[in-house]
Amino acid sequence: MKTSNYRVAPLRTEIAEAARRTAQADAADHAIVIADSPNGYPCRHCLRWAQPGERLVLFPFASIAPGRPYSESGPIFVHAEPCERYRLTNQFPGEFRQGRAIRAYDSKQNMIAGEVVNGNEPEAVIEKLLQNPETAFIQVRSASRGCYTMGIERV
Ligand SMILES: [Zn+2]
Repeated sequence: MKTSNYRVAPLRTEIAEAARRTAQADAADHAIVIADSPNGYPCRHCLRWAQPGERLVLFPFASIAPGRPYSESGPIFVHAEPCERYRLTNQFPGEFRQGRAIRAYDSKQNMIAGEVVNGNEPEAVIEKLLQNPETAFIQVRSASRGCYTMGIERV
């Protein structure tokens, strides 16, 4: 299903590259892990599940910047080797249609709504949240662990 009024916002390449460099410098908050299952290690840059044996960097990402009531930093993975940033930004990534929670934020970065995609089409949930004119942007997360998966921006 193509989208027209929003686009998927994968993690920026500069952030993925900085995480890889920081991990190579043995920073305590940047761990190298090896995927040991086919759907436990989502890369936020290419928006694919890492396959068993692939190496990833696990590090904290501030999905809402510090200094606000809803400021939030949490653990995310990116492939440890360079990967191609997700390009089909007018399509919800197929590998993350299940098990997601979708949150809406206003222009002050306050969370104003949240829904778990529970057998629904994620596009339908996103469209509904965007119908509220106060929704400035959306974040998609793991419903079970809460980790940030991707952003959704209005076009
Ligand atoms: Zn990747």
